[in-house]
Amino acid sequence: MTAKIIDGKAFAAKVREQVAAHVARLKEEQGITPGLAVVLVGEDPASKVYVSSKGKQTVEVGMNSYEHKLPDTTGEAELLALIARLNADPAVHGILVQLPLPKHLNSDLVINAIDPAKDVDGFHISNVGLLGTGQKSMVPCTPLGCLMMLRDHHGSLAGMDAVVVGRSNIVGKPMAQLLLGDSCTVTIAHSRTKDLAEVCRRADILVAAVGRPEMIPGDWVKPGATVIDVGINRIERDGKARLVGDVHYDSAAAVAGAITPVPGGVGPMTIACLLANTLTACCRANGLPEPE
Ligand code: NDP
Repeated sequence: MTAKIIDGKAFAAKVREQVAAHVARLKEEQGITPGLAVVLVGEDPASKVYVSSKGKQTVEVGMNSYEHKLPDTTGEAELLALIARLNADPAVHGILVQLPLPKHLNSDLVINAIDPAKDVDGFHISNVGLLGTGQKSMVPCTPLGCLMMLRDHHGSLAGMDAVVVGRSNIVGKPMAQLLLGDSCTVTIAHSRTKDLAEVCRRADILVAAVGRPEMIPGDWVKPGATVIDVGINRIERDGKARLVGDVHYDSAAAVAGAITPVPGGVGPMTIACLLANTLTACCRANGLPEPE
């Protein structure tokens, strides 16, 4: 069997197009332009790349992008003061603080200072609680992108066995909540899971969010399963820098029914969902119908 490749790049382009069309209508009919503020503290090279790509795509869909780049010596009080200003600013509908923050800053404190209605990353404790209890919330972008691709591929996910490898607050746990919300039978695996290979082989839907290059080989994949590879790992092979996922792509693609590539799978969907969340936040703030 050769797996269908789930093209996250093309899917993300479609999502961005829909967001851009909705933004254009908002401007024309309501005179409202959604605004996203991104806060970057420090000089982490990967974070700088993500922030600049977020800013570029925000502008491309017609939204306002406000970038706040602060030195890594920024104190907590100064950062909290900026967040308070952004919370109060009616032109800002979404606020994203790029993680990881420098070690001297308490990420939980900072994230929980964001107005939950503007928390487009969905990491505020209120949004986590709302998602966990099946209420309307802001949903974290990466798991939301994975869910959209799964729904697009399968239609209904009800009754499927889903295994999520990884239990981080930003990917693994919210992913599991979303799959549960779509009536999957969900297993969350992690570094202490016994016989991970056997657990993975039960999965109709296997989501890998570990951060270990090519850790999951094809013989851990149930024939015909759908594999969503969240991992982004930078490695060197044959003297060249390469990006690989947490799944060993070639061996997994030989048995899976469908698989997301790295790059070009989950990655592009994350920013597209960030833009979609910003649009949703803007519509909610203005009492307007939300995008579908
Ligand atoms: P974390 O490091 O926060 O979490 C990794 C998880 O994997 C932990 O729960 C850990 O278990 C588990 N784990 C580690 N080693 C093993 C192992 N040997 N067997 C089983 N489980 C293991 O990572 P993130 O969730 O933040 O990110 C995961 C990956 O996804 C990374 O590659 C990251 O770059 C990528 N990513 C991609 C995004 C995208 O846009 N595509 C967005 C965000 C992340 P334990 O809890 O027991 O330590």
